[in-house]
Amino acid sequence: MEDFIVSARKYRPATFRTVVGQYALTTTLKNAVITKKLAHAFLFCGPRGVGKTTCARIFAKTINCFTPTAEGEACNQCESCVSFNEQRSYNIHELDAASNNSVDDIRLLIEQVRIPPQIGQYKVYIIDEVHMLSQSAFNAFLKTLEEPPKHAIFVLATTEKHKILPTILSRCQIYDFNRISINDIVEHLQYVASQESVTAEPEALNVIAQKADGGMRDALSIFDQVVSFTGGNITYRATIDNLNVLDYDYYFRLVEAFLSGNVIDAMLIFNEVLNRGFEGQNFISGMSSHLRDLLVAKDPQTLPLLEVGEAIGVKYTQQAQKCQNAFLYKALEISNECDLNYRLSKNKRLLVELTLIRLCQILQPVQPQPVQRDIQPIAANPVPQPVQQPAQAQHPQARHLSSAPVQTLTVAPPPQVTAPPPPPPAFAKTQTPAPPAPKSAGQSMRMPGLSIKNGFNKKDDSAGLNQQSGPSVSLNTPFDNEALILAWNEYAQSLTVENILVQKTMQTARPLLKENYQFEVAVDGPQQVEILEQDATTMVTYLKNKLKNTSIQMHIRVNEVNERPKASSMQEKLKAMMNTNPELIKLKEIFDLEIA
Ligand SMILES: [Zn+2]
Repeated sequence: MEDFIVSARKYRPATFRTVVGQYALTTTLKNAVITKKLAHAFLFCGPRGVGKTTCARIFAKTINCFTPTAEGEACNQCESCVSFNEQRSYNIHELDAASNNSVDDIRLLIEQVRIPPQIGQYKVYIIDEVHMLSQSAFNAFLKTLEEPPKHAIFVLATTEKHKILPTILSRCQIYDFNRISINDIVEHLQYVASQESVTAEPEALNVIAQKADGGMRDALSIFDQVVSFTGGNITYRATIDNLNVLDYDYYFRLVEAFLSGNVIDAMLIFNEVLNRGFEGQNFISGMSSHLRDLLVAKDPQTLPLLEVGEAIGVKYTQQAQKCQNAFLYKALEISNECDLNYRLSKNKRLLVELTLIRLCQILQPVQPQPVQRDIQPIAANPVPQPVQQPAQAQHPQARHLSSAPVQTLTVAPPPQVTAPPPPPPAFAKTQTPAPPAPKSAGQSMRMPGLSIKNGFNKKDDSAGLNQQSGPSVSLNTPFDNEALILAWNEYAQSLTVENILVQKTMQTARPLLKENYQFEVAVDGPQQVEILEQDATTMVTYLKNKLKNTSIQMHIRVNEVNERPKASSMQEKLKAMMNTNPELIKLKEIFDLEIA
């Protein structure tokens, strides 16, 4: 145990050839060595742990090697190489700009740069996290970078290229390091495992690679951790336990439940996941990933995008065959919606459960509901809107409702729709043309007192959106206008700066509850209508969850001219002001004021 060296150090590559996952880049560097065309400054950019510093060290060693190989690799035998490998070479200097970012640190470095190397040809200065240098340090460094002595080579490394000043960028040869692919990491871990006489299931290494998110250093640290936890026998089960990763198996079972419409199973699986200490948000984002993986597993062309081990890959392909594209699109949409709403939701568990229920209902025929509680949301205003249909796969029920003939509205259960939406061509956007709408003869019947108003047509879109986005399970908890306004304000307040326009618009408009849980929002102009409509789906979903009522529909319209008179002249403005504030009249009288 006393001579334990962490794998990330022990298996740090010593030659360009052994660097994992950066083939194009190391080839270019080798060519530079072979042709002896060396720039004086390099910038290595890329995420953490992908080999930037390692490559810089190999590079420094190789250009100082006395007998480099024909491929442009260091010999690892000459005096210079040995001193590098034993970390006692004076030709390499590393400065961590994260902790040494002052002008004095840079001045010290500049002093050293002047001194030529004792042995070998080049002195290499590696400045790590170079974006952390202070402005004045940068400026002090610029001069040296512009006119370095012949023996000096700078390798600047950064995880944040956008923070590097253009003056620096223009003086460097730039190398962009990639995130290392899952397969490359797995392959390397397999090599390390074999060297360490550790047995490892490929699926387990895959989980480690995914957890490392493209960084080899992280992958090797996690590997060490799992080795010590499992005592050298790395199984899939032990790995997911140790790393607190949710088993693929849950999601396979869940999708089976969705396909067969088994709500109970889905709820129980979710409960099991919660009991194992996982967060609902992890669960939901994991489900989105699973659905995405099923989608890419459906087509041989996209199969390479599936980054899982072979055995699990087979499982994905098998389950993918059972799923139609339309189902996957819809399921992805629903789970993504849940993911987005999760942060806002007050009752997160209910939100996830509602999502699961909706997912289970995608392929299920619409059930007729008991008569007492089935006042269905009244269909949207049936003005034909051929282009405006949202580009999402429509829920069969939603589509049906919005085109429902007038008579069905008085009778509760909507006619059954049994067939799922037809599968669209692979990966095409599922754009369904708007269903032909009945003529406007029934308009006034459908929306008594509301439908004929000017500017009301606008609501079609939002109403359509609302219909689809609401959970498919019906909740019909009654609420009053006050509760609506409360929830409305609460949502507005939860919005961040990015949605400031929506927030402002919401604050100036008051929702007004009409019958059948529809409410109306009057705003000042078409622009405000547009602003609210863009956020309508999330807004209405929020209100539905908050007020526990899935029938809620929002109609946005522009204020009628006579609702909010626009004062045109100064006199009229004053009149309007005096109407609302009688003090002004007094003021005018006391001072005998007039408008010029
Ligand atoms: Zn050598």
